[in-house]
Amino acid sequence: MSQIERSMENRHPFADIEREKMKSLIVLIAILACVILDVHVTFIMGKEIVYTHFFYIPLILAGVWYHMRAIYVAIFLGAFHVLTTFLSMDLSFSIVTLEAVQRAIIFFAVAYLVGFVSGEHAKSLLLEEKRRVEEIRKNEEKYRSLVESTEDSVYLVDRNCGYLFMNEKHLSRLGLSRGQFLGHTYGNFHSAEEAKRFAEKIKYVFESGTSLQHEYKDSAGKSYLKTLSPVKDPETGIVTAVTVVSKDITEIKRTEKELTETKDYLKNIIASSADTITVVDMKGIVRDWNKSAEGIMGYRADEVVGTSNRKFFAEPEEADRIMERVQKEGEIKDYRTIVLRKDGKPIHISMSAAVLKDKKGVPIGTVCVSRDITKVVELEERIKAERDNLKLIFESMADGVYLVSEDYKVEFINKVLRNDFGNPVGSICHNVFHDREEPCPLCKHLEVMKGKTVRWEWHSRRLNKTYDLIETPLKNIDGTISKLTIFRDVTERKKAEEEIRKLNCELELKVVDLEEVTRMKSDFLSLTSHELRTPLTPMQAQLQMLQEGYMGKMNEKQEDSIEVILRNLTRLDKLINDILDISRIEAGRIKMSFESMSINDAVKEAIKMQESFAKKKDLKIRARLTELPTIIGDAERLRQVISNLLNNAIKFSKKSADMIVETRRVGENVLFRITDYGLGISKEDKEKLFKPFSQIDSSMGREHGGTGLGLAIAKGIIQAHNGKIWVESEVGNGSTFYFVIPAKQKITEKEVPYIG
Ligand code: ADP
Repeated sequence: MSQIERSMENRHPFADIEREKMKSLIVLIAILACVILDVHVTFIMGKEIVYTHFFYIPLILAGVWYHMRAIYVAIFLGAFHVLTTFLSMDLSFSIVTLEAVQRAIIFFAVAYLVGFVSGEHAKSLLLEEKRRVEEIRKNEEKYRSLVESTEDSVYLVDRNCGYLFMNEKHLSRLGLSRGQFLGHTYGNFHSAEEAKRFAEKIKYVFESGTSLQHEYKDSAGKSYLKTLSPVKDPETGIVTAVTVVSKDITEIKRTEKELTETKDYLKNIIASSADTITVVDMKGIVRDWNKSAEGIMGYRADEVVGTSNRKFFAEPEEADRIMERVQKEGEIKDYRTIVLRKDGKPIHISMSAAVLKDKKGVPIGTVCVSRDITKVVELEERIKAERDNLKLIFESMADGVYLVSEDYKVEFINKVLRNDFGNPVGSICHNVFHDREEPCPLCKHLEVMKGKTVRWEWHSRRLNKTYDLIETPLKNIDGTISKLTIFRDVTERKKAEEEIRKLNCELELKVVDLEEVTRMKSDFLSLTSHELRTPLTPMQAQLQMLQEGYMGKMNEKQEDSIEVILRNLTRLDKLINDILDISRIEAGRIKMSFESMSINDAVKEAIKMQESFAKKKDLKIRARLTELPTIIGDAERLRQVISNLLNNAIKFSKKSADMIVETRRVGENVLFRITDYGLGISKEDKEKLFKPFSQIDSSMGREHGGTGLGLAIAKGIIQAHNGKIWVESEVGNGSTFYFVIPAKQKITEKEVPYIG
């Protein structure tokens, strides 16, 4: 409700009407009294006395109250007076009548004057009133906009908690539209309990005339702070209503709660922190001492709180120095010092401290967080000692050693390098070693600083020396990294390597020549063998025809001679075949035809082929063939290998000594072995056995026949099967030849190189 409304209400409309009526009545009564007086004096008393002074009463009253309308009263009274005087003079104009006219004119003048003055006065009053009302209206608007713009609910209640006014905010909070609050009370929107409490507060404000605050939490859990202020009648000072400003303090409450929780949390952290947390005031008196401080220092909180902190330091002045620095710099970090435990034992601590300030920012003390680093310090000392030892070792090394800091400063240089480069400790490495202002383009410093170990070669033009450098990072106690470089002088080695390189080149050229010669040799052998063999076949045919008598009967001597020629032709044929094989093997051109086959069958066939030869020497071949899987191999060639091994065994066996032939499966491989009890082979001979044309004793070869090619061919064939051939033997105790080949091969025809 606006003040204007209220001021209008103060001037009760009925009261105004009554007052106006009363005024009119008074004026009418006064006029009537004057009329009666005039009639009475003029007609009843018949006198001509002056009594018209009374006429001024209604005139003045009308002038004051009705302003210019007083003229009507003056006209009426003046006319009435003139008329009564005229009538009393028996309807004739006389001096008396003229006087009456004069009085009437004076009435008019007085009425006009009073009416005019009063009218002007009333006008000024009205203007003043209007101005006042305008002012009130403006204030009212300001007040209203203030009340409407606030985030708070604002409302006005009467003594019975009935709403007299409420701002939009509160309307929306209660879900009402403007004007709907009329007739409602606080109790309509709140619980009975809250309504009762609110009524008590309102009552208090009405009675005491003072403000108060009241907190309230609604059913939705929102908190409000209500400020109840009295609205007093400016004239009487009586409380007419109460303004309630209701502030939503839910957020503030939540923050307050969080703050309290944070404080508790912080308190817990401080209490349970592994670091010692202590607070000292500006005089160095301990104010707080957490559990960890108790553990590390050995003092209980109640023993030290309130006492000076100087006793904790080996040097009491240290306490003042720390305090001074903290006050000056605001904080210190990782400051190392030594404190004394309660039992007097010194401990190394690393301390961080900061100034503690009150709410106004005035320093009130220092908060210190310290950590026991005694073990760290001991470790550092150990590392330092080890580092010193290391430097001693470096000093006595035959290689050059130096250490460079992250910023390229030479930190250490050993004797070997000092001899070559002087003592540049403290100088920048690229300055002293390379006469450069900037780091060298080849420098591995940055890589090493990243943790890499680098090995590279450096040639010093100044010393004409070549160094093999190993550069590796070395961690220092303070966490920084130094680059450790080991200089190995490899100038001599380099020269030797160069020499070897040259020789290698020459050798390579010779090998190429040799390969060419070998190839030519193989080609020659292959060609000559082939050419030699060509006439053999017709020769053999002609001799066999002679032997079988197609060209006439021969005598016994002739038959023997032909027999000898044929036998030697067969040997020659074998020799040529062997030479052809070995030359193909050496040239890597031996042809293999892989197919599914049985090793045992190949063994049986070979035995059959060699049986008559064995009989001649009165030898027995014992075969121990176990069941084998079929393998992939060149049956013809493997039979050739087995035959050769059997033939050798027979050749070199002692008379009547049996031979044992065995086959066995070994994992994915097939193993063949043949054991004889003959001459045996020495260790040295074993090594050259599988090389072409290697007969251990050539006289024996001649005795037994043979070319020294059989085992070399056997080796080539077994290698072509991805297998291995070897011998175990002792001189005089016989020999065992083995070969092993994988059961599975690719079925193909291939030319296999010979690995000698
Ligand atoms: P050859 O045709 O001369 O037998 P091999 O290459 O088969 O050629 O054999 C080479 C040499 O290895 C033989 O001359 C012999 O000296 C030796 N040798 C081979 N097998 C045996 C064996 N079972 N006992 C002793 N010596 C052997």
